[in-house]
Amino acid sequence: MKKDIKKLLNSPQTDPNKILPMKYTWAREYYKKGVANNWVPEEVSMQFDVEMWKSPNALTKDEKRLILWNMGFFSTAESLTANNIVLLIYKHITNPECRQYLLRQAYEEAVHTDTFIYCCDTLGLDPGEVYNMYLDIPSIKKKDDFVVDITKSILDPTFTTEGTDNIRKFVNDLIGFYVIMEGIFFYAGFVMMLSMLRQHKMVGVGEQFQFILRDESVHLAFGSELINTIFKEEKGILTKDFAEKITENIKTAVDLEYEYAKDCLPKGILGLNADTIYEYLQYIADRRLERIGLEKVYGTKNPFPWMSEIIDLRKEKNFFETRVNEYKTGALSWD
Ligand code: FE
Ligand code: MN
Repeated sequence: MKKDIKKLLNSPQTDPNKILPMKYTWAREYYKKGVANNWVPEEVSMQFDVEMWKSPNALTKDEKRLILWNMGFFSTAESLTANNIVLLIYKHITNPECRQYLLRQAYEEAVHTDTFIYCCDTLGLDPGEVYNMYLDIPSIKKKDDFVVDITKSILDPTFTTEGTDNIRKFVNDLIGFYVIMEGIFFYAGFVMMLSMLRQHKMVGVGEQFQFILRDESVHLAFGSELINTIFKEEKGILTKDFAEKITENIKTAVDLEYEYAKDCLPKGILGLNADTIYEYLQYIADRRLERIGLEKVYGTKNPFPWMSEIIDLRKEKNFFETRVNEYKTGALSWD
């Protein structure tokens, strides 16, 4: 009998149906964190938002546009992420405690998708406009195309994770969705929508984004743990070349997100402008790189320290006064 230990990829010892005894206890922790964060969009009242959205002068044209574009990006990006988990990641990660987390994450993505249905319905937005933005708006389309492109080699139904090249392709998928999509492409939107919230504009939509941000920081943390575990177990995967390729992809993602920010914010509003968002993206890209054991590239300071406070949501914040469950704060120092 092989004395081999369970590992994440290609392990003959893994029985996907036997969750105990557990090897990756961190997967269990993230699962519990997800459960502790449970929410549904209907918990957030949209009454104030509906009034504001429909009143002729409450929001400027630029503010409305910013809201619509972020709806447009997120409404379809959530489904893209869910599909990647269910159709690609779940198939190759056979470890049961990680799969348990992936099921939880897939559910949370369904909640996020539901959030945009709820926002479209309550605000009376045109779904034909919102749900086509990922095809019609070039800076949104470029982001989606970029993640799909770096992950498409594993879409081949005959793809397996056997061998170094395939493992790298699989890691590229994990980086594409967890680090780039959920860790960088969501963040210009988070900054914009939470800035609205801080100025008491569209507070319902803002709170929905706050809930989503909290979930996404756990997804990102789980994804990074998955990537780091594969690097540790599969010796020789993380070569200098591969590290450079990953870093290049992350830099491209920052530039694409900056382009998107410029489109959403052609001129400064809400105390924001695209250039400050660009600094923030550089700051978070450095954090993402370090989190997967790579060297940071920008060295930029965080221009929005308030974002970290929002991520570390605590009960005493207004946001939680209406909530039944107490959020058990994790030690996530994510921005
Ligand atoms: Fe999501
Ligand atoms: Mn997610």
